[in-house]
Amino acid sequence: MTTAYAFPPAPIAAVPVAGAATAFPVRRIYCVGRNYVEHAQEMGFSGREAPFFFCKPADAVVPVAPGETVAIPYPSQTANLHHEIELVVAIGKAGRDIAEDQAAAHIFGYAVGLDMTRRDLQMDLRKAGRPWELGKAYDQSAPIGPIHPIAATGEIAKGAIRVDVNGEKRQHSDITKLIWNVNETIAYLSRYFELQPGDLIFTGTPEGVGAVVAGDLMTGSVEGLGEIRVRIC
Ligand code: MN
Repeated sequence: MTTAYAFPPAPIAAVPVAGAATAFPVRRIYCVGRNYVEHAQEMGFSGREAPFFFCKPADAVVPVAPGETVAIPYPSQTANLHHEIELVVAIGKAGRDIAEDQAAAHIFGYAVGLDMTRRDLQMDLRKAGRPWELGKAYDQSAPIGPIHPIAATGEIAKGAIRVDVNGEKRQHSDITKLIWNVNETIAYLSRYFELQPGDLIFTGTPEGVGAVVAGDLMTGSVEGLGEIRVRIC
């Protein structure tokens, strides 16, 4: 028997797959906090703690097609909106308690993403020992480029990651500087949640986070995954 919904269900959040006519349906978005030493330090920490995670809702994704500039609104209730450029890992195979040396088998592909953050709210919540959702999980807080299948890219363990704002350097680093690399992150997270196809993992941002205002153009990239262009409006 089909379920009769009280109203039409929300559409499935999805991100186009590069080089294919299909899209990756998003189930959950996990994000790693403070996963580059110099970013942990700029946030006031040592960079030597165990990984920790927060989530964004699946429908926070904003697909950004190559060559296009996508506009996202400056969100409400903040006066300090920050960019965080990140390597995003897309999960294609379910698993729990995944061993590090098996982690790659669970990867569908990779994308470049922005973990947009209402920093003033996040800092207030952090100080009060409260959850970060109001700072991190707001609507349209996760612009993301197409997902490049691992079959095309191979495993990504190195390469430049960067974001510029209005053509000026903001965050420039390398994937090798992740404190917890992709395989370690998948292994760790899978002890706490059964990972499922459709899960996205934002793997953390390097140093150089900073504010953007209406009109600013962010140009973000991860080597091998192309570039995304996002304007704040
Ligand atoms: Mn982040």
